[in-house]
Amino acid sequence: MTNRADKAEIRNLESALSRVGGALDEFLKFEHPDAFNNRAQWSEHLGISVPEVGVGLDEVIEEINQWIIPNGSPITRPGFSSFITTGATTASAVASAASSIAAPQRYLGTAFNFLEELSLEWLAEMFNIANLKGVYSSGGSVANLVALGGARQSAFEAIGRDPSADGLDRPTAIYASSECHHTIQRSAGVLGLGRRSVRTIACNELGQIDMQALQEAVNQDLANDILPVAIVANAGTTNTGAIDPILKMGQLAKQHNIWFHVDGAYGLPGMLDERVADRYQGLELADSIIVDPHKWLGASVGIAATFVRDREILLRAFTQEPADYLEGSIDQSAEEQPVIEHSLDDFGIPYFDYGVELSAPCRGIVVWAMLREVGVEGLRERVIRHNDMARIIADYAKQHPKLELLLEPELSICCFRFSTDKVADLDHLNQRLHRRLVRNNVYMPSTTRVDGKLAIRPCYVGAHHVVEQAHGLLGAVLELGEQLENEMK
Ligand SMILES: *Cc1c(COP(=O)(O)O)cnc(C)c1O
Repeated sequence: MTNRADKAEIRNLESALSRVGGALDEFLKFEHPDAFNNRAQWSEHLGISVPEVGVGLDEVIEEINQWIIPNGSPITRPGFSSFITTGATTASAVASAASSIAAPQRYLGTAFNFLEELSLEWLAEMFNIANLKGVYSSGGSVANLVALGGARQSAFEAIGRDPSADGLDRPTAIYASSECHHTIQRSAGVLGLGRRSVRTIACNELGQIDMQALQEAVNQDLANDILPVAIVANAGTTNTGAIDPILKMGQLAKQHNIWFHVDGAYGLPGMLDERVADRYQGLELADSIIVDPHKWLGASVGIAATFVRDREILLRAFTQEPADYLEGSIDQSAEEQPVIEHSLDDFGIPYFDYGVELSAPCRGIVVWAMLREVGVEGLRERVIRHNDMARIIADYAKQHPKLELLLEPELSICCFRFSTDKVADLDHLNQRLHRRLVRNNVYMPSTTRVDGKLAIRPCYVGAHHVVEQAHGLLGAVLELGEQLENEMK
C-alpha cells in the first residue's frame, strides 16, 4: 500500500473562506426570498442519497454558496425579533471558524485554552461577579443543568451524602416562578430530582415571583422533610423580560442555607443599562449564575456560561473519575516532578470535569473577539439601544388610541397589541395581524400571552437591531391592524 494522502483538502482556506464570505455578504443584504419559497427546488437538489464518489472541495463550496446559504434562516434578518436569538457578528463568526481549524478542543496548554479562562473572567468582571468562576457549555439549557448539578451536590453534601456517586435517597425541591424557563424542569429531570420537584411559584402582575408564596412553599417542604436543592431567580424571563426580586430571594435562600441560582441566560447583560442596574441587586448572594453570550451578546450560537462560587463542587458533581484514556495520554507518573515543555504536557483548566461535555469547541475565543472588538462600552451601548427600543414601542402604544401596552417593559422585550372597539375578539385580530406581519418578511416579532391577552412581542437582542426597527414595526402593526379592523368588523 502506498502512503496516499486523504482526498479531503486541508489547505486553501484563504480562497475557500473568502468565497463563502462573499456569499454570506450577499445573504446579509436580505434581498433573497424566505427559504420556504424555494423549498421544492433546494430540497430536491440537496436531498440525494449518500454519495459514493465525492465532488471535491470546489463543488462543495459552490453548492454551499448557491443552494444552502441563500436558503438560510430568517433569524438573521434585522426585523426578526421573535425568539431570543440572533445572528453572530462577524468577529464571532471568524473566531469560531479559527478555533475549529486551529484548536479543535478547549483543553491543552494553548492560547485558545488561555482565552477560555480569560474571557470567563472578563464576563465575570463586566457583570460584577468577579468572585465567581465560570465554565462554558452549549447553551442556557446545559448551563442551567450544570448549575443545578452544583446545587444538588451542595444540598446532599450538607447531609453527608454524595448524590453524583451514590444517587438520591430522599425527595427534593427546587423553587422557581411559573415564568421560569422550562430547562429548569428538564434539568431537575436529568439530575434525578424529577421535573415535579420544581415548585412553580405564582407571579405578580409584572411577571415576578410572589415572595410570600415562595416563602410558604419553602416552609411547607421543610416541615415535610423535603430537601430544598435550589431557589432559582429569573434575571429576565424569556416571555416578558421580567426580573424577579433577586435580593429578597437571595436573602431567603441564605436564611435557609439553600443554593441560590440566577438564570440570566437572556437578561444578565441588562445590568449594563444604568436605568435597570439596581434590579440586579442581590446577585452577590448567588451561588450560581448563567448567561448566554449567544443571546444578547451576539456570539455565534452554542455558547453559554455557568458561573459558580466554587468550581470544585462542579468537579465533584460531574467527575468521570480518573480514566486511563485521558490521564494515560500524558503519563508523567514516572517523573519526580511533572515537567511542562509542550502544550500537550498540560491539559489546562479541566473544564471537561466541570460539566457534562468532554469534547467541546473553544468558545472563549468567540467571547474574547466580541469583547475585544467593541469593548464593554460597545455592548453597553447595544443593550441600552435595545432597552430603548422596547420603551419607544411602549410609550407610543400608551398614547396611541389604536394600540395597547400590555406590560411595561423591564428589558428589551415589549408586549403590546392592536386595539379597537370595532372588533370584539382582539386575540383573533392580533393573531391574524401577526401572521400577516411575518408573511411580509420584514418585521418578525413573536406573540405571547399577558394576563390572558394575546400580545405582539418583539424582543431586541441583535447587533443589527436598530431604533428604526421599532418605528417600522409600529407602522406595520398599525397598517395591518387597520386593514383587519375593516375586514373583521
Ligand atoms: C433561552 C433561555 C434558556 C435556554 O437557553 P438555550 O441557550 O436556548 O439553551 C434558559 N433560560 C432562559 C431565561 C432563557 O431565556
